[in-house]
Amino acid sequence: MKDPYELLGVPRTAAEGEIKGAFRRLAKEHHPDRNPGDDASARHFKELNAAYQILSDPDKRAMFDRFGAAGLGGARSGGAGPFGNVPIDLGELNIDGIFGDLLDALGIRVGDRGDIKVDIELSFSEAVFGCKKTVAFDRVASCVGCDGTGAAAGTEFSACASCNGRGRVRMQQGVFPIAVERACPACHGSGRVVKTPCETCSGVGLASVRAEVEIVVPAGVESGSTRTVEGQGSVVRGKRPGDVEVTVHVRPHELFRRAGDNVICTLPVTFAQAALGDEIEIPTLEGKGTLRVPPGTQPGTTLRIRGKGIPRRVVGGRGDQLVEVAVEIPVDLTDKQKELVMELAKELGEAVQPQRSTFVEKLRALFH
Ligand SMILES: [Zn+2]
Ligand SMILES: [Zn+2]
Repeated sequence: MKDPYELLGVPRTAAEGEIKGAFRRLAKEHHPDRNPGDDASARHFKELNAAYQILSDPDKRAMFDRFGAAGLGGARSGGAGPFGNVPIDLGELNIDGIFGDLLDALGIRVGDRGDIKVDIELSFSEAVFGCKKTVAFDRVASCVGCDGTGAAAGTEFSACASCNGRGRVRMQQGVFPIAVERACPACHGSGRVVKTPCETCSGVGLASVRAEVEIVVPAGVESGSTRTVEGQGSVVRGKRPGDVEVTVHVRPHELFRRAGDNVICTLPVTFAQAALGDEIEIPTLEGKGTLRVPPGTQPGTTLRIRGKGIPRRVVGGRGDQLVEVAVEIPVDLTDKQKELVMELAKELGEAVQPQRSTFVEKLRALFH
């Protein structure tokens, strides 16, 4: 977080009016409407707003002067404090009325719907067969110390000075001479302000809490897919709580990989097994199984086991398991083994090698 005094270009001793003046001048200059498509300007504009929120609020300014950014415990400080790292609504903070609407109008959203994104990791088989997962995350919720009012227990509220307790203010927007009424940004439309702030939340009425939700992961879920848990996100004053968006990440499997609804594995077989055929133990998603490799199986052949793949969510049923046969050629032969292989080669000739015989024929035809 940048130093708010530096951002606004005012000395630490600056009076309220000086700060306000500096902010208005700079905000006008870096206003995104004046600098369309300029991201740096938009970012700077946002920083100016954040700086002004601190310096225009005597409590926040005092906290900043004493403890720096950590003292604020705000969203941008990233430190301890009531909000930890949870993003909170910019509109939540006391912004001078004139610029309160501006943030909305400019579409500046700092977690302003209270949505939270969470990632979870699943094992390959959890993703294949589905599971239940408890997801833990931090959210902004009503402070339990004051039940969200922001006032210390047993203390009174006073009428909001900005709106004289009406809860609504009239304001001029942009260059148009049209005044509109809207909820007072100083008291969020309640018409009253806290006299003695709650100690737990410094009068904000909100606090970061650890929350847990259980989500049901459907069978066959793919890595990167998301589930939305509605209304379990952060509380934003005056709006319904945001949602929690859970993104699923599936850990790779040692033997399996996924292709759509099918699961693929590679099966190394010996030359003898490929030539003579064999019943071979193979991994399946349910555990060990056996597969009959037919005699004369060629390297690269894919054998299909129907219905042993990934459960299909929409149409039902399951995909297939594909077994890619990898014939291994023996290495580091002993003299005796070499002799036997040569003997076998002589005995076999070329007639029993299906690809080689046609290859040789084609070669002859080409260069006869
Ligand atoms: Zn509180
Ligand atoms: Zn008010």
